[in-house]
Amino acid sequence: MLTSRPRGTNDFLPGEIEKWHYVEAKIQEICKEYGFIEIRTPIFEHTELFLRGVGETTDIVQKEMYSFTDRGDRSITLRPEGTASTVRAYFEHKLYAGPQPVKVFYVGPMFRYDRPQAGRYRQFHQFGVEVFGSKEPSVDAEVITMAMDLYARLGLKDLEVQINSVGCPNCRPIHRQRLQEALQAKLGELCETCQGRFDKNPMRVLDCKNPNCQELTTDVPTTTACLCDECGSHFEQVKEYLDVVGIQYVVNENLVRGLDYYCNTAFEIIAKGIGAQSSIGGGGRYDGLLKDVGGQEIPGIGYALGLERIILTMENQNANFPPKGGTEVFVASLGQAANKLSFDLIYKLRKAGVSAEKDHLNKGLRAQMKQADRLQASYVVILGDEEINKGIAVVRHMYSGDQEEVSLEKLVDFFRYNKV
Ligand code: AMP
Repeated sequence: MLTSRPRGTNDFLPGEIEKWHYVEAKIQEICKEYGFIEIRTPIFEHTELFLRGVGETTDIVQKEMYSFTDRGDRSITLRPEGTASTVRAYFEHKLYAGPQPVKVFYVGPMFRYDRPQAGRYRQFHQFGVEVFGSKEPSVDAEVITMAMDLYARLGLKDLEVQINSVGCPNCRPIHRQRLQEALQAKLGELCETCQGRFDKNPMRVLDCKNPNCQELTTDVPTTTACLCDECGSHFEQVKEYLDVVGIQYVVNENLVRGLDYYCNTAFEIIAKGIGAQSSIGGGGRYDGLLKDVGGQEIPGIGYALGLERIILTMENQNANFPPKGGTEVFVASLGQAANKLSFDLIYKLRKAGVSAEKDHLNKGLRAQMKQADRLQASYVVILGDEEINKGIAVVRHMYSGDQEEVSLEKLVDFFRYNKV
């Protein structure tokens, strides 16, 4: 073999891909009901979009981007997430000039040079939504509700929605200052990364995964304790809207997003019992991002859910995937004339909307019947010289084992109207 697939990537083979189709169909279904329209943006963008749109101090930009110089000497990056591209498209196509809010969703591969492990890959897939043009707390609650509704439809259990508010450019500096005052005395005890964060981005110390840092930050001022009236009221209303529809949540005051363009709501959905990579989705409000990318003050909120982790959680929780849809009709043929006729027959059946298959390996009848079984065919049509001479085909009902003769002219209609 020439080579294997690159580390951290996956092939989705028959047997697995049906699960993806199922999840993707549920996504299409729920987006229609919640009024989100699909948007497809390029897999690669100018690197500067992510430097601005994701943030130069983030792990993604500092360590994880797949960037390269193309033949035209431009710096190009495989998209590590979907929001920046969606925001770019919103401005590039002047979607802000139409009715607001604009509600879009995307599904597709993302690329991050991360250390691969179960549930963490270098090419992975996200479903995400973005809402542009509304500051209202009902929008924050709607996107959280929609994410939870999708998980429920997929049969996922034992999920926890964690929410928090990180304030706005007016109240965040107050939190920052109080936090720095509280951490000053403990600075030497924080991990090296947090010591680096102390000046630039002290809020990130709150979500450090190092147990010692977690211990040291148990009694420091929280973001919610420092919210201005407007942000406090926004947060209360988001929670009230979630209460209205009965979505349960816990407030996690260490859930922060360190970049300046984030504001108000931050949320994350955790699946219990799938191991270290337990975040199956997250999002938040980013009113400052549109200003950074497009130059206009337009509010935005969104989330992204990881499809690999959703499917992994469904498998771990024995959620129901629909049974595999087998081929409806398998045409078993013997002899040259029957081979040609069967080729025409499956063409006509397929055009009539019936899934049909034939043998392509010149097998004997018994082996063809085995193949029909493997494909879970509902019917097998048996065609040989004798049948052709009589102008009929033998149709075998695979569930009951019954057989009947059907005239060749009526065969396509027989299946069209007897569709399983
Ligand atoms: P993020 O864009 O980092 O907020 O991630 C949103 C979701 O994407 C996470 O909750 C995960 O479910 C998923 N995700 C992020 N990074 C990876 C990865 N490297 N491999 C698989 N899924 C990922």
